[in-house]
Amino acid sequence: MKPRLFTPGPTPVPEETLLELAKPVGYHRSPEAKAILAEVSEDLKYVFQTANPVFTLTSSGTGGMEAAVASALAPGEKVILCTAGRWGERWRGILKAHGANVVAVEVPYGKAVTPDMVQAAVAQHPDARAVFATLSETSTGVGHDLEAFGKIVAKTDALLIVDGISGLGAMECRVDAWHIDVCVTGSQKALMLPPGLAFVSVSEKGWKKIDATPVRAFYFDLRRYRKSLAESDTPFTPANTLIKAQRVSLKQIRAEGIENLWARHAKIAAACRAGVKAMGLEVFAERPNNALTVITVPAGVDGSGTLKKLEKQYGFKLADGQDTLKGKIWRLSHMGYTDAFEVLGAVSALELVLLESGFKLDPGSGVAAFQKAYAGK
Ligand SMILES: *Cc1c(COP(=O)(O)O)cnc(C)c1O
Repeated sequence: MKPRLFTPGPTPVPEETLLELAKPVGYHRSPEAKAILAEVSEDLKYVFQTANPVFTLTSSGTGGMEAAVASALAPGEKVILCTAGRWGERWRGILKAHGANVVAVEVPYGKAVTPDMVQAAVAQHPDARAVFATLSETSTGVGHDLEAFGKIVAKTDALLIVDGISGLGAMECRVDAWHIDVCVTGSQKALMLPPGLAFVSVSEKGWKKIDATPVRAFYFDLRRYRKSLAESDTPFTPANTLIKAQRVSLKQIRAEGIENLWARHAKIAAACRAGVKAMGLEVFAERPNNALTVITVPAGVDGSGTLKKLEKQYGFKLADGQDTLKGKIWRLSHMGYTDAFEVLGAVSALELVLLESGFKLDPGSGVAAFQKAYAGK
């Protein structure tokens, strides 16, 4: 059976990038390696929509998040945490480990933190040094209005620090124009690479705060990455094979154009949501993002069992809910190297499995609605 990966990380990797990964390993301090890092860093600036350098860390996305916290905050400093799911909670865990004084703006899973909530929190806590947010809350499928958050936070002394993992490269995100001071993403979500790299951008306002904060990290001290990248280098041995492969995937993004890429994801996501609704299912997120579609498991259906059947019978690997959402939602990723026909296939396979388990639906209803929406009819 052909395996089909629809998890919201890792995601499918283009063939050209896989071929790059098959090549011999080179030395990471050679002029060639430096030229590749320089090129990747330039292309990342384009993906982030920033004029500031984007640093490459050898870690999963969480390492980039920890680097942001460890570099920008001193223990005891107050921060506002916007949390709408497991990844907001990841910020909380890192912040706690680093001794931050966390004020949480919290919404139930499936809901989005609104700009009004952020406005109220910054008004109530003028001493907050940073606002932490998540672009795409991958655990629920919610997307946050970071453009509006940015307008609010830019008027204060606080930094806006964003987990862009899974969102960046799938949905519109303009780091500079939206006043995002620190933006973090990982290689294995929308950037079409296996896991292993984290990418971090820092604004001028962000550097002011970081440079005024005592050094508390070694591997994750962003100052080291700034110093090294000025010479097209990394402070430690990088996952250089992954960096070479990232160059190939980034070239594909460049060739498509970031706005076309956002539009492609938006079109597939809208069609997928239409398909899901036409099957008589509900979209879990109140403000869905374009990286993935999260579906509420209908009453009487075995959520986790359905996913097992999808994989075993048809090769479609979707993701279950995490923690308390296990068995209650299905997460279908359409970010990165995934096209409309593959997602249409996933909708079709879900229809089949549901039909087989006795769920009442008209065969083809989801597929037809997907096609109608995709064709704009
Ligand atoms: C996947 C993900 C993470 C975790 O990243 P790792 O690479 O597993 O460390 C954090 N935040 C969001 C929004 C994610 O989707």
